[in-house]
Amino acid sequence: MISKYLTREQNNVSMVNKNRRWKEICGSIKGIPGHVLHHVDTTLLYNNPERYILWLPEDLKIMTKAEHLSLHHTGLKYSDETKEKMRQKKLGIPKSEEHRRHLSESHKRYWARRRMDEQVRSGRAKLSVLKRQSPINAA
Ligand SMILES: [Zn+2]
Repeated sequence: MISKYLTREQNNVSMVNKNRRWKEICGSIKGIPGHVLHHVDTTLLYNNPERYILWLPEDLKIMTKAEHLSLHHTGLKYSDETKEKMRQKKLGIPKSEEHRRHLSESHKRYWARRRMDEQVRSGRAKLSVLKRQSPINAA
């Protein structure tokens, strides 16, 4: 999963290390079907991304996907603002002008980043060049 807390470089390192860890565990970088590697300290990603991307054995727990989903969705704390937005969505109340603008900007950044990734992957452009050109900082 691409994380907004990691730079593209950190994300790449993270993927490589996760694959390596799975390989150590079960002999395949694909891991064990139906299972995930979960970081026990769920704050690590944003509190200590440098450590998160290492996928250290002592930080990890193998869980089934079902266990993992329920773990991350139980006791999940939303801000009052987010809860209010979820309540409004449920009731079919249209989003505020400000919220729509926020989502729109966020989607633009997301798709700009995706386009850059695609160009780099296909070898049509170099990331360093794209970053210099882009008005949107794709950190
Ligand atoms: Zn997890």
